Amino acid sequence: MKLIDGKAIAAEVRSEVKLRAAAFEAASGKKPGLAVVLIGSDPASSVYVRNKINACEEAGIRSFCYRLPEDTAEEEAEELIGRLAASADVHGILVQLPLPAHLKEEKLLAKIPVSKDVDGFSAENIGRLARGERAAVACTPLGVMELLKRSGVDPSGKHAVVIGRSNIVGKPMALLLLNADATVTVCHSRTRGLAAICREADILVSAVGKPAFVTADMVKEGAVVIDVGINRTEGKIVGDVAFGEVAPKASLITPVPGGVGPMTVAMLLRNTMDAAERCL
Ligand code: NDP
Repeated sequence: MKLIDGKAIAAEVRSEVKLRAAAFEAASGKKPGLAVVLIGSDPASSVYVRNKINACEEAGIRSFCYRLPEDTAEEEAEELIGRLAASADVHGILVQLPLPAHLKEEKLLAKIPVSKDVDGFSAENIGRLARGERAAVACTPLGVMELLKRSGVDPSGKHAVVIGRSNIVGKPMALLLLNADATVTVCHSRTRGLAAICREADILVSAVGKPAFVTADMVKEGAVVIDVGINRTEGKIVGDVAFGEVAPKASLITPVPGGVGPMTVAMLLRNTMDAAERCL
């Protein structure tokens, strides 16, 4: 078994972005810019936003942070997105999810121009991904692909099983693996015979959100196991995979923390950089 070191791979990606950001500034006279919009006071979201902003600073990306109160009106949020959409200093716009219940996610996200959609959540970007065209792709599944690539895993011809079908992780993950020529099975809460399907996987990606969900009996000897889950239990962060029993069977496995998590922010920086370079 070999551990996939997400922290080290994320650091590589971030230093590549830093070089590109410096070159961008030299060519254009300004830094690439990312606007982050946080509405409400969800504590986990505040931590994520702080991490993203710190990562931007370190990479030479200018960040514009907007913290709006929980009771922000829809028109006010839309007006802000409109201004950011028109700003030449802002190359990427990120609206931190989840939104307060009275705001409609789809409606607000639709205000972000496709060219600035660095989270890859727009219908246009998801459609492009589904068609196998160039697209901005959701950062977490994109980070998983980067981990596989930099660990020497080529999905072509392999059977990849993705557990989870959310719009932000499971579905784009399945599409990326399909575009990389894997044979893909997507599982979810209605799937019958989950363990047997998982045992067929050369690459097993779990994005469920339940601790110790993937057990050793679900994993083929020599499989690559990617744990996207982030679960808080007894003050500790754990993934979906029962790491202790699964790791000895896997050829490669991501730990939690220190696996997929650090890649999400790294890929956000890279998506922002890609968006900025398209403006040159
Ligand atoms: P969602 O809750 O949106 O999706 C969970 C998926 O798991 C659903 O598709 C659900 O199926 C499926 N599922 C639930 N129970 C079962 C079951 N018993 N058997 C099979 N499938 C099941 O979560 P997200 O996709 O947003 O996130 C998944 C995990 O990844 C979470 O732990 C989250 O915290 C983490 N995450 C980590 C990130 C990172 O940076 N590392 C970033 C984003 C998320 P159904 O559709 O039928 O309900």
